[in-house]
Amino acid sequence: MKESLSYKKRISNTMLDFDRRARSRKQNRFSKGDPAQKFMFQVLFDQNMDWKLAWKNVELFETRIGTLNVKKIAKMPLGDIHRAMKGDKRKSDPDEWKALHRFPKKLSSWMKGTCKRLVKEYAGDPRHIWNNTKSARLIEERLKEFPGFGQKKASMLINILANDRGFRNIDRTEIDISVDSLVRRVFLRTGLADFDSKDDIIQVSRKLHPEFPGILDLPAWRIGQDYCSPTWPDCNKCPVGMICKKKKWRTRDTD
Ligand code: SF4
Repeated sequence: MKESLSYKKRISNTMLDFDRRARSRKQNRFSKGDPAQKFMFQVLFDQNMDWKLAWKNVELFETRIGTLNVKKIAKMPLGDIHRAMKGDKRKSDPDEWKALHRFPKKLSSWMKGTCKRLVKEYAGDPRHIWNNTKSARLIEERLKEFPGFGQKKASMLINILANDRGFRNIDRTEIDISVDSLVRRVFLRTGLADFDSKDDIIQVSRKLHPEFPGILDLPAWRIGQDYCSPTWPDCNKCPVGMICKKKKWRTRDTD
C-alpha cells in the first residue's frame, strides 16, 4: 500500500529533527581535515564493508605503499598496489597485514584507474572535479566516469562535500540521496518509498525536499545503521519509532 504524502512528510521531518540533534552532539561521520585525494579514496573503499573500516584501511594502505600521492600511484605497477591491498599473512604482525578489502583485486585496479584519470583529466588533484562548478549534477557525472564510482558513491561524496566538508557554493537542489542498503531499508520499512527501486527512493526524496533532496541521506543512513538492522530492528528506540509503519517484511528476504 502506498503511503500518503502527509505521512511521508511527518516521517522525513522527524528524521531531520533527529539529524539536527545528532549534529549538535558533534556526531559527524567524517574527518573534515583529510586531503582531497584521501577523501576520494575513502569513498572508493566504502563498499561491502563498514564505513569506519573503509576509512581506516585507506590509512593502512598509505602506510603499506608509502604514499597517497596521486601521480605516484598512477605510475605504480598494479602488482604493487594489489600486494598492499591483499596483505600478507607471513608478515610479523598478521593483523597489520590483513586484506584491506573483500575484493582486493578489483579495488586495486579501481585505485590505479582513478589515479590515472585524475592525472590525465584533473592535473592529479580531485578538487578540480568539484571546485570549478556549482552544479552537483555535473560533479556527479564527472565522478561516475571514474572506475568504481556509481550513483551511490558519487552522491555520497557530494553529500559529504556539502554537509561535512564546508563546500557551501554547490547547488543543493541537484544533490540526490545516496542509495545504499541502509538507506534503502529505512525507506522501504517506513513506507517513504512505494517501490523497491533506486529511482523511487531518489524521486520521493526530490519530491519531499526539492530544495535539497540529499538532506535525508545522513539521517536515513544513521537510522539504518543504529536502529533498523536487517533482522532485529530496535523500533522502540528508533527516532521514527512512534510513527513508522514498520513494514519489516519488505526487506527481510533481500537484506
Ligand atoms: S527501526 Fe523500526 S521504527 Fe525504525 S525505521 Fe526501522 S522499522 Fe521503522
